Amino acid sequence: MTSPIALHNATLFDSATGELRPHATVTVEGERIVDVAYDAAPGPGARAIDLAGRTLLPGLIDGHVHVTATIPDFFRLTLLPQTLIAAQAKDILAGMLMRGFTTVRDAGGADTGLVQAVERGHFIGPRLFIAGRAITQTGGHGDSRPAFFQGNSGCICCGAAGMLGSIADGVGPVRRAAREELRNGAHHIKVMAGGGIASPSDPLDGTQYSEEEMTAIVQEARAARTYVMAHAYTPEAISRAINCGVRSIEHGNLLDAETAALMAQKGAFLVPTLSTYDALYRNGERLGWSSQMMAKLELVRSQGVDAIRFARAANVKIGYGTDLLGEMHADQSLEFTLRAPAMPASEILRSATFVNAEMMGQAGKLGVIAPGAYADLVVVDGNPLQDLTLLQEQGRHLPLIMKAGKLCKNELGAIAA
Ligand SMILES: [Zn+2]
Repeated sequence: MTSPIALHNATLFDSATGELRPHATVTVEGERIVDVAYDAAPGPGARAIDLAGRTLLPGLIDGHVHVTATIPDFFRLTLLPQTLIAAQAKDILAGMLMRGFTTVRDAGGADTGLVQAVERGHFIGPRLFIAGRAITQTGGHGDSRPAFFQGNSGCICCGAAGMLGSIADGVGPVRRAAREELRNGAHHIKVMAGGGIASPSDPLDGTQYSEEEMTAIVQEARAARTYVMAHAYTPEAISRAINCGVRSIEHGNLLDAETAALMAQKGAFLVPTLSTYDALYRNGERLGWSSQMMAKLELVRSQGVDAIRFARAANVKIGYGTDLLGEMHADQSLEFTLRAPAMPASEILRSATFVNAEMMGQAGKLGVIAPGAYADLVVVDGNPLQDLTLLQEQGRHLPLIMKAGKLCKNELGAIAA
């Protein structure tokens, strides 16, 4: 058994309160944190790393990713070989970890094979919580078939890689679809509750699924002791989903004050994903997105910050998500600064740690620096509460990244015995 590691002389970010605490020593044994002390020397026998006052964050959590969205075209993605997608996902996962994200929640696409590839060390990446395939109605946001395309990409015999949705209509079939994802190792269920931008045939302001269908999906998730995350933009789509028992609203760009109050009352989470709209705004035309899609995009992009303001004013718990596709994954940490007009830095960091962990049912295990939690830790060269851009540039200002007690990156020199 290897001796404990002590991260000494750290300025610790307390994700429960959003405050910095100087002169901390965090002791790690195996994959967990065993002790957090202040103004204390590293314990005898511990291998110490002197952080020289640098900021120590809990490992970051991205609550909305698609690690298999290797290209920004959902239909073409379904035609790629799954082995190629897995190989490309390997690079996407490694990039996330090097940006300090030690946990990600996949919102559709990743399967249990990828979870195992990371767990067994074949792929270097964040711990993965997956939805499997997103559950969508025919013609819904997860139905990526072009109009008049006759194939049924929703059948169970077809591949599960990429952004393929599971197409199901009616209470019985949606129950079966949810059970199928859970059987295949999904940690949570993703449902498409309203129109989307990248899908070809659904109006942005449309609602998707009847309340009976959505309630059935929530019942199945709860029966399996988990929860549902729902894609929704408009107040109508959001309030329908919340009233059916959905736990987290994804994107939510068109949220208003009244709907925010309902979310707060029901204890639901909002996971804004400003970075993907910003990235698509800059890259959409070059990627061949239609003017129709770009118009939908601009509508939601322009209101994303306001949605966060409404949510914050109503005390809605706000998580951190990004929803990036293909090469745009490089913008994952841009979300920190894009939110700055609506939230103080300490709250944004809480979103990406404490709040996301609570949303995912991992309170106390992830997103905190506390005894018993997984030793997922990130060192920042500087004070991110004063300068969130320190989290950008692909982890350049993060000299040390630890996941489950394992040093994935260490530029702070040899560990003293
Ligand atoms: Zn998404």
